[in-house]
Amino acid sequence: MNSVSNYSSKMKTSFAPSMLKSLSTPFYFYDMELLEQNLSAASTACSKYGYHMHYALKANSNDRILESMLRHGFGADCVSGNEVTRAYDAGFSPSGIAFAGVGKSDEEIRIGLELDIFTFNVESVQELQVIDLLAGEMGKIANIALRINPNVDAKTHHYITTGIEENKFGINQWEFEKVIDTLNSSENLQLKGLHFHIGSQINDMDVFKGLCLRVNEIQVWFLERRIIPEHINLGGGLGIDYGEPDSLPDFDLFFKIFHDNLRLNAKQEVHFELGRALVAQCGSLISKVLYVKEGVKTNFAILDAGMTELIRPALYQAYHKIENLSSSGSPMRYDVVGPICESSDCFGKAIELPETQRGDMIAIRSTGAYGEVMSLGYNLRSKANAYYSDTIKI
Ligand SMILES: *Cc1c(COP(=O)(O)O)cnc(C)c1O
Repeated sequence: MNSVSNYSSKMKTSFAPSMLKSLSTPFYFYDMELLEQNLSAASTACSKYGYHMHYALKANSNDRILESMLRHGFGADCVSGNEVTRAYDAGFSPSGIAFAGVGKSDEEIRIGLELDIFTFNVESVQELQVIDLLAGEMGKIANIALRINPNVDAKTHHYITTGIEENKFGINQWEFEKVIDTLNSSENLQLKGLHFHIGSQINDMDVFKGLCLRVNEIQVWFLERRIIPEHINLGGGLGIDYGEPDSLPDFDLFFKIFHDNLRLNAKQEVHFELGRALVAQCGSLISKVLYVKEGVKTNFAILDAGMTELIRPALYQAYHKIENLSSSGSPMRYDVVGPICESSDCFGKAIELPETQRGDMIAIRSTGAYGEVMSLGYNLRSKANAYYSDTIKI
């Protein structure tokens, strides 16, 4: 992990108390300089081997974030018809848009067909049949990548594990013959690639090595049937260090694992779909302390942000580093909670913070991915604003 020095201290100065009064909390803050640094590193490491990157829009689809991805020449990875439309409207070329998802509706499939997207990453035999039918009706040929369930355990939280047989995602090996038969009997489908995405927040690089070895075996199966897809898409899943918000992912190591372990056939392209690793560290959720209340073991710091702005702790027991930007008092422990009427609305228990008071500014770090995009209107909460470091006025 590369350390980005002074980032925390820079944040503290950018959130000077005078500024706090002018911005209403809670809000998301995006450090565009850090984003740029991270995307440059990802882009350099990826193109070193001639690999292609599609940014997974579902991590964060704000216009400013998408503009940055476009500037680096990334394609898009979408998981809904609206994401396909958003990517296209933002300026992504349809030839770089991959569309995954176990439950694509007919309407969503038509959006992709209309645009002639890079691939439908298809997750079942029945989906192949439906895409064939709809493509036929529209006079289109659909580009297909088979999303294969490689039965590789991502060793991450079970809610974000997607590549073992019990998961709903992908096509299992016992269905391959049927898939090939379906492709052969379909007039409007063209097989372009094999697609794999085994989970998210993966920090154990051996997992990716294991994926490569499975992909090699699966490629042999296809090769024996004289099928050599144009591309292999390894999905996303690279994790970040939530404990060290100032560190960036090691993209060099990540891509090297694939370079060292994937056995490719001639001219095969390699594609990736990173989301979290590209954007997570550039975002912070900024919130104000509304109340400090005495508890049994620890006191509560009650924030004006809750699970409606950031659901990851409530949904996946996710850890985010919490910092008090206003106080330099002596350390105390707090249960840092939100205002929502749910006991799961808790950002962290017994968190050490400098002595905290009503009105203090709190930063919940590493929230650039799966933060703002997952916000809810529960309790009729208003949508939090987003501010960007390069355009914010103090
Ligand atoms: C969510 C998703 C990704 C991105 O995952 P990250 O863990 O954010 O990198 C990539 N591909 C597919 C198909 C996805 O569903």
